[in-house]
Amino acid sequence: MKREDYINWDEYFMGIALLTAMRSKDPNSQVGACIVSPENKILSLGYNGMPMGCSDDEMPWEREGAPLQTKYMYVCHAELNAILNSAHNNLKGARVYVTLFPCNECTKAIIQSGIAEVVYYGDKYHDSDSSIAARFMFEHAGVRLTPYKPTGRRVELEL
Ligand SMILES: [Zn+2]
Repeated sequence: MKREDYINWDEYFMGIALLTAMRSKDPNSQVGACIVSPENKILSLGYNGMPMGCSDDEMPWEREGAPLQTKYMYVCHAELNAILNSAHNNLKGARVYVTLFPCNECTKAIIQSGIAEVVYYGDKYHDSDSSIAARFMFEHAGVRLTPYKPTGRRVELEL
């Protein structure tokens, strides 16, 4: 008899997005993204971080203060990193698993890359202008928005 308590695809890919988020150096926000083909193959991964060559130790991670001294000018979001990391993959019809609902800037990149579905976990900025603009664009572009529903169950493995 085969095992019955294996994780489903959504748990698997969101789990990988969460694991990927753990690579982030951002002290306040760790976000991960996992792009998956319609055949359930992983096409790309990304987490929020500074652009290549911009040292994590020299760039600001502040959220407040003069704009040039905040992270917002510099950080590349998880979704954008995942899209840019997938340069050799066709993302048309793909879905992206994100640990946090995308901002309006990543939304533009998601739509333009041809991604067809966003499965999101956190949504703490739901009422912000950025999220409202993101939902507006997704709706018009026909991108499906699916809230992730964790089962809460624990899968035990023998090692
Ligand atoms: Zn973003």
